Amino acid sequence: MDKIAIAAKASGRDAGDVTLVAVSKQQPWDPVAQVLAAGQTVFGENRVQEAQARWAERRNGVELRLIGPLQTNKAKEAVALFDVIETLDRERLAKALANEFQAQGRTLRLYVQVNTGEEPQKAGVLPAEADAFIARCRQAHGLELEGLMCIPPAEEPPGPHFALLAKIAARNGLARLSMGMSGDYETAVRFGATSVRVGSALFGARPSA
Ligand SMILES: *Cc1c(COP(=O)(O)O)cnc(C)c1O
Repeated sequence: MDKIAIAAKASGRDAGDVTLVAVSKQQPWDPVAQVLAAGQTVFGENRVQEAQARWAERRNGVELRLIGPLQTNKAKEAVALFDVIETLDRERLAKALANEFQAQGRTLRLYVQVNTGEEPQKAGVLPAEADAFIARCRQAHGLELEGLMCIPPAEEPPGPHFALLAKIAARNGLARLSMGMSGDYETAVRFGATSVRVGSALFGARPSA
């Protein structure tokens, strides 16, 4: 999307430094097919089953990212299907993923989700617990991490949350930041997002469930 490139340039960044993750969850196939045909290769889904139904037979040349919560009992299917999991947020899941990587001889790229707004209903590790969790993932479970992901509270300005995520990433030696959605991806790019997860701005509003 041009707006991502403009936001990147405006903050002195290269447009190529920001990956667009097209969030196809709950969308009818037609708009997704159009975006795919236009050359988009990276897609985000929030449910394992839905992603399987949609993408299992269309995996060629597509990078698939899980951006929704993952239950440990779905770890096996998730590891078999996805390229990237952006929602690693607890020790049991770290362990399950490490086991599946070994069992399937396949290693996915991983992002730790941080609950920057400390919202009780939201997934993610608390900011104060992030350093310890990252260390456990690396040391106790031998996981290589690619970056951090956050979803700021809907009713707050997102900038401080993006800044907090960037700070936690920097002090833990993580270079990638998955942050920004339809309403705030330009802000996220200014705060250093290396990928933005955009659904409705790309495909139109999701049909209400
Ligand atoms: C649905 C979703 C998005 C995309 O939201 P839009 O507002 O439609 O861009 C991004 N990230 C996550 C984690 C989501 O669940």
